[in-house]
Amino acid sequence: MNANELAAQLQFLKDIGVDSLSVEAVEEAQSASATARSLEEKAPLQTLESIRTEIGDCQRCKLAPKRTNIVFGSGNPNAELVFVGEAPGYDEDQQGLPFVGRAGQLLTKIIESINLKREEVYICNVLKCRPPENRNPEPDEVATCNPFLKKQLATIRPKIVCCLGTFAAQTVLQTPAPISRLRGKFFDMDGMRIIATFHPAYLLRSPDKKREVWEDMKQIRAELFRLRS
Ligand code: URA
Repeated sequence: MNANELAAQLQFLKDIGVDSLSVEAVEEAQSASATARSLEEKAPLQTLESIRTEIGDCQRCKLAPKRTNIVFGSGNPNAELVFVGEAPGYDEDQQGLPFVGRAGQLLTKIIESINLKREEVYICNVLKCRPPENRNPEPDEVATCNPFLKKQLATIRPKIVCCLGTFAAQTVLQTPAPISRLRGKFFDMDGMRIIATFHPAYLLRSPDKKREVWEDMKQIRAELFRLRS
């Protein structure tokens, strides 16, 4: 703390009625602010690039030997809205990009239905590697990969996260509740608004559920407007 800052702090304390300070209190305050500074230095905010570098040629779980590419995520690093899916499928594994197959084409249409472009949002998955034969993610795989999703969200700091399907919703919201109960309402977590909706692959099999997804998307659009104003 320089002399000017010290003078300003003392003036502030005087203004709020503190007219004497013990040496211990001053030392305690100085040591607390030094600790805060050193914590900031030890844990600098990551970038998406540094998270990708940290993942490296990941061998942390049993999906590694069978994958073709790690699918980290793509889109706007400053997105207000992030979509989180389950795991890469065949096309995503081949191309190293999320949601590029049939479900991805439907997701693009869903995004455009609320007047956003795909490039304006960020898209990623809970798992970064494809489970063989597109089987469901297993708990150890989710536990291993989830810290990277958390870091991606903490770095992007979107206003809204939209979880696509059961696995994304249960992982992000840390609940075993079924998607039918979770979808369509906002939850608050770490300064973000979290909402879940049905997975586009499920919509390809059950097109009658598109109506609910449209309702969820309208909520997202309204909430984005509200949070911007
Ligand atoms: N399904 C997902 O959950 N994620 C993808 O990237 C593609 C399909």
